[in-house]
Amino acid sequence: MARRRKVYEGKAKILYEGPEPGTLVQYFKDDATAFNNQKKGIITGKGVLNNRISEYIMLRLAEIGIPTHFVRRLNMREQLIREVEIIPVEVIVRNIAAGSMSKRLGIPEGTPLPRSIVEYCYKSDDLGDPLVSEEHIAAFGWASPPELDDMMALALRINDVLFGLFAGVGIRLVDFKIEFGRLYEDEDVRTVLADEISPDSCRLWDMRSNEKLDKDRFRRDLGGVAEAYQEVARRLGILPEGGPNDLKGPAVMQ
Ligand code: UDP
Repeated sequence: MARRRKVYEGKAKILYEGPEPGTLVQYFKDDATAFNNQKKGIITGKGVLNNRISEYIMLRLAEIGIPTHFVRRLNMREQLIREVEIIPVEVIVRNIAAGSMSKRLGIPEGTPLPRSIVEYCYKSDDLGDPLVSEEHIAAFGWASPPELDDMMALALRINDVLFGLFAGVGIRLVDFKIEFGRLYEDEDVRTVLADEISPDSCRLWDMRSNEKLDKDRFRRDLGGVAEAYQEVARRLGILPEGGPNDLKGPAVMQ
């Protein structure tokens, strides 16, 4: 295959020029980082699983009208996406206290929140993605007020869908991080879901045992990281027993 031009390399993914203008190829690596790059490692097979899991989630979201950058999966580690301009704001949605919120506010991990909470962080590795308010986002022009409205509304809809989707397979969606991009189409600019949604960017706890099925296993040295990601894929019905091309619907838990 012809050598493609690398457009961007991040911590867990690489973006290559796509086959047509306005498209990119998103390649999922096995590399894992945590604590703003201070901890590094490789989780064998993670890229393959995240490619599949993110594809599955983006397709489910598209079905209910959430605009996304996803076009189609190309192979085990790559997917074709629409090229967007990433809005430099990470949107975090929380259903249960954990991680930085527990630390910051002294709420024990696992405490259900009275309502879903949306937080924003400014995307900056140098600054460690600091928590910011809508005021900062508007004042510094990171996103326009209508874009912010779109991001908030889409984030809550995504949370509703994913909460139900994971609950259906016995997994509690504790929190997750998403990113949005600007999709330029003719004269129009649309806010669309970009990046990925996977166990790298979600906290997922088994409903019965509370076992962690996400990147916290890597962050906290709990072991069995790849197995946990595999379990998420298996429950969603995308780790088929009949081979990699045998796509089935989700295995609903009793
Ligand atoms: N998250 C992420 N990338 C980041 C920061 C957070 O994907 O750079 C996800 C994380 O996996 C969790 C949620 O966002 O599902 C909330 O993370 P938190 O703010 O608690 O930060 P952490 O404790 O992971 O540092």
